[in-house]
Amino acid sequence: MTALITSNFCLQHEMQDGHPERPERLSALMAHLDHCGLLQDLDVLEPQEATNAHLSLVHKNTYLTQLNEISPQIGLVNLNPDMAIGPNSLKSARLSVGAALQGVEMVLSNKEKRAFCAVRPPGHHAEESTAMGFCFYNGIAIAAKQALQHSAIQRIAILDFDVHHGNGTVEAFLDMPEVLVCSSFQYPHYPYRMQEVIRPNIINTPLPAMTTGLDFRKNIEASWGPALESHQPDLFLVSAGFDAHRDDPLGNLLLDESDFAWMTDYIVDFANRFSMGRIVSVLEGGYDLNALSRSVESHLIQLEKN
Ligand SMILES: [Zn+2]
Repeated sequence: MTALITSNFCLQHEMQDGHPERPERLSALMAHLDHCGLLQDLDVLEPQEATNAHLSLVHKNTYLTQLNEISPQIGLVNLNPDMAIGPNSLKSARLSVGAALQGVEMVLSNKEKRAFCAVRPPGHHAEESTAMGFCFYNGIAIAAKQALQHSAIQRIAILDFDVHHGNGTVEAFLDMPEVLVCSSFQYPHYPYRMQEVIRPNIINTPLPAMTTGLDFRKNIEASWGPALESHQPDLFLVSAGFDAHRDDPLGNLLLDESDFAWMTDYIVDFANRFSMGRIVSVLEGGYDLNALSRSVESHLIQLEKN
């Protein structure tokens, strides 16, 4: 069975009016999973908030203090042109990180083989000392660093198929060859940094606007396949962004649900060979409510099936 780790509190994190990273992303997704009958097949769990010690695995203490000081009691404070912080933002962000940590704990203690974290805000753009791209704390990077403290885990793969490059995750593992980071992304496109890094453990897969599902699959197989074969990860972590969907307002790639099903199946095959099937997947982007809901459904069906 797959664990679905989610918290209603994540609905209380709000940004400016009309912002694409809105509470309805999560409420629509959960309503869809209930409606299509998938929710009943999953083990639904509430996360605990990540502690400061967890957040410090990736982020500088000065940055964490700065965020706490800026966090308002009421109203919104603008952090940068594309994100604001409200009274419930940091708690939602800590719960999002906590979900990833709990997913890792569950698969490493063999309570579950797979976990999907339906949380917001996302995390993969957050750098050591920078909130950006709607992200405060880099949950997937924190979960990877925590997992490496487990004696059974020597090598990890973080696979990021969000339409935006996972710059924060790449930054966190630049000098940690035990963590392979594979990121596919529209190029050129936001976030315009960390995309040209050359390291043996960083696999960047840039895709031009209007890339089709078929070309996406060919690029993934050619660039991620050999790296995964040689890395042989003990654990697979997934930054599952669904904004490469053709209906998404923030990207210009042409993927659909069948491509996300293929992507998931591809990861599951590697996980079954190398990591006893262990996969922890964390929601990142995806801003068209229908496309996001259907794409997560496809992702979960493949995680459950194999
Ligand atoms: Zn994205």
